[in-house]
Amino acid sequence: MKHITDCTILNNGVTMPWLGFGTYQAKGQEVYEAVKVALKAGYRSIDTAAIYGNEAEVGKAIAESGVARDELFVTTKVWNDDQGYETTLQAFEESRKNLGLDVIDLYLIHWPGQDKYKDTWKALERLYEEGSVRAIGVSNFHVHHLKDLMKDSHVVPAVNQVELHPSLIQQELQDFCGAQNIQLEAWSPLMRGKLNDNTTILGIAQKYGKTPAQIILRWDIQNKIVTIPKSVTPSRIRENAGIFDFVLTPDELKQIDSLNGNKRIGTDPDKLIF
Ligand code: NDP
Repeated sequence: MKHITDCTILNNGVTMPWLGFGTYQAKGQEVYEAVKVALKAGYRSIDTAAIYGNEAEVGKAIAESGVARDELFVTTKVWNDDQGYETTLQAFEESRKNLGLDVIDLYLIHWPGQDKYKDTWKALERLYEEGSVRAIGVSNFHVHHLKDLMKDSHVVPAVNQVELHPSLIQQELQDFCGAQNIQLEAWSPLMRGKLNDNTTILGIAQKYGKTPAQIILRWDIQNKIVTIPKSVTPSRIRENAGIFDFVLTPDELKQIDSLNGNKRIGTDPDKLIF
């Protein structure tokens, strides 16, 4: 993990950058400009979702960037209302059209919900088998959702994207995904700025001449967690990419782990019933 293009190898052999760029709550010209800045800064992985309403702008920024398609890794997600076999296939076509891409690198089920994710997964398996997506995965799945899904499916999810930051380290999920070779990916890795004043993180940041955000993102990747910070501020976009020139010690990793308080800023997936 010495360079922004360094990758993890997913369980099907596809490579995915450890650092990606988040785009939630960024729309229109703002997200278009931000993705362009991110690609110029060296990010090669972009995370979007149908529900973000920005796939078209993300696609436009990618197309205009001049970066070769095979150097890029694009993730999008099927939204809750579209879960189910046929509806997922239709939603995928819409996302693919909006992004202007023939093949999506990673397609995720955005939230588990209650009882449709197995049908949805069958649609993802079909998209994977026909080559429309290079990898398929899930998001916001607890261990019990993963176990239930894997009982009745033949493709093991390549990725599980969940809320994860020093206030919610998700140790059980880290252990389970590690054992099953499912790559864990952190959303809201910076807890949307809420950890910037934490004294432990500030202390470590001072030692390395880094910012709290950089310390957290480095903690992610040293824990083998893919991370996708979002920013529409050019200086922060570049700052968040500056995590490949230092290494946290095992003791510092533990100090950050110990900040865990099982605190979420998003919804507990078990409480998002649809
Ligand atoms: P983040 O933890 O990435 O935080 C983003 C916020 O932090 C923004 O307000 C941003 O401000 C600010 N910020 C970014 N960098 C810095 C920095 N270096 N210093 C100080 N502040 C900073 O939260 P997100 O919720 O956006 O999560 C990241 C991505 O994960 C999303 O964008 C999305 O792609 C994905 N996601 C997935 C979900 C899922 O259910 N699968 C749910 C939520 C997110 P500004 O932009 O103004 O610079």
